[in-house]
Amino acid sequence: MKAIIIGSGIAGLTAGAALSKAGHEVTIFEQYQRPGGVTTTIEKDGYKWDLGQLMLEGFGKDEPIGQILLELGIYDQVSSAVDQRGYVFPDFEIRTPETYAGPQWRMQLLKDQFPEEAKGLDKYWKDYLRFSKLMTFGRKADKASGFAKTLLMARLYWTLLPLLPKAKWNADQLMSHYFKSEKLKMVFTSILADFFTLPSDFQGLGIFMLNSELSFDKRVPKTLAANTDQLYLYSMHGGINKLNQPMISLIESKGGKILIESPVEKIVLENNKVTGVQVGGQFHPADIVLASGDAKQIFFNLIGKENLTDDYVQLIENQTLMDSVFMVHLGMDMDPSPYVHGAVTYYYGTYDLVKSLNEAQNGVYHEGRDGFVVHVPTLHSPEMAPAGKHALTVYTICPDTLKEGTWEERKEEFADKLLTYTEKYIPGLREKTLTRVILTPADFRTLTNAKHHAFGGLAPVMNRPYIKHQTPIDGLWFIGQQSESGGGVFNVLPSSYKVARKIIDG
Ligand SMILES: Cc1cc2nc3c(=O)[nH]c(=O)nc-3n(C[C@H](O)[C@H](O)[C@H](O)COP(=O)(O)OP(=O)(O)OC[C@H]3O[C@@H](n4cnc5c(N)ncnc54)[C@H](O)[C@@H]3O)c2cc1C
Repeated sequence: MKAIIIGSGIAGLTAGAALSKAGHEVTIFEQYQRPGGVTTTIEKDGYKWDLGQLMLEGFGKDEPIGQILLELGIYDQVSSAVDQRGYVFPDFEIRTPETYAGPQWRMQLLKDQFPEEAKGLDKYWKDYLRFSKLMTFGRKADKASGFAKTLLMARLYWTLLPLLPKAKWNADQLMSHYFKSEKLKMVFTSILADFFTLPSDFQGLGIFMLNSELSFDKRVPKTLAANTDQLYLYSMHGGINKLNQPMISLIESKGGKILIESPVEKIVLENNKVTGVQVGGQFHPADIVLASGDAKQIFFNLIGKENLTDDYVQLIENQTLMDSVFMVHLGMDMDPSPYVHGAVTYYYGTYDLVKSLNEAQNGVYHEGRDGFVVHVPTLHSPEMAPAGKHALTVYTICPDTLKEGTWEERKEEFADKLLTYTEKYIPGLREKTLTRVILTPADFRTLTNAKHHAFGGLAPVMNRPYIKHQTPIDGLWFIGQQSESGGGVFNVLPSSYKVARKIIDG
């Protein structure tokens, strides 16, 4: 079968690798000057920095993404290390203890910080274990078949029963069930800022997934109790680009093509069936087309509203997208490790997540005041900088479009302001900077061919409508971070693999 894929982000590459391996003829068209979408490593003056995503879940051999890499036969070509992240709040921090203090050290640290919430933290922990068990049965059932699957599903529902009353709660409701302190609630919900999603809009039980104890300390046992597994967080040795390379090689080794600087202008249809795509005015025939990227661009510009039902147009109009990121990449003549908590540290400047998100949604950039993330890839991959030097990235979430001025006009000013906030934690940062690269939402729009850059794709808003992978157009599949499975490599990679498997298996 002849398959055309639009976009060479991790969604397009995964689907392309699976289809090529199964013997299908694959061509990937990429509008940008290099493959990879946002899973890319950029380079300047001997320094390398990653764009998205900086830390990844589930790359172990027995974990969801690791298993796909094994099935593709490229697991051994992707080298990653189990990692952890640190959290700094305005008046306390969650720092991984030097000496391992047991799986509940974080709970104990929070009890010391919020003694009146000790009972709530115990209740939280009990539900955390139950939720982890639920996920474990879910993952096992996903891989099983026949009677084994039925049995696992039965155990899954049995585990779910006590959590059922909470299944319809949003994150605000769940947090209020355990805790009174707004500060403590924020410890668990702060990560939602990265998703541009208010706790009142986010599925409550999802909070457990975003707060894996393993992500704060890699020494915590992966299996906390029988059938209660957590997923590790990983850093990619040499940069996120190293994930793309084996997929690209696999596609090319099977005769597949990845054509860069080749924007698809049109998806060609005949009687509601795809027949191919148009690139540079030329028609390229295909039996199937898998499209990733910006949903509005794909459905409204490449297909045209006239080819869609009113309901489908409405569905696409109604998608809730995230906003963007502002990134400053630095080449450093200093070792930042004494000041950071490892490769990724989240610094929060506020406990008022709602105010911060509301401002961002109205085009007001907080300039670093409300928080930022510091990534130091050279802590796991020294080769990403010249010998003895370090690569460091500071990023914040930000509006795609500013209320006042443009990103291009204001990027230097914003970079300086952001670094001023960062210097509160990493003294001497600017003085020791040898080179820098600034990336704004405008750059990300160009990189991803989006009118609105949504850095993780769909915002995980509860009960939102979504665009299914299998579209109403015969032979057209929609994959990637704006499709039904949502954003993040952890969602995008397995879901596009599943789409490819569905096509392969008929
Ligand atoms: C700074 C940053 C940090 C992140 N951190 C996290 C995180 O911590 N957790 C998390 O879950 N996720 C995170 N993400 C999100 C995650 O990286 C993405 O959700 C995921 O990589 C998206 O993959 P994709 O293939 O769907 O999209 P993309 O990588 O955007 O790929 C789409 C590709 O399609 C191409 N394209 C579009 N239109 C056309 C066309 N007409 N013709 C040809 N090509 C076209 C684009 O050029 C692009 O290369 C982060 C992202 C960023 C930027």
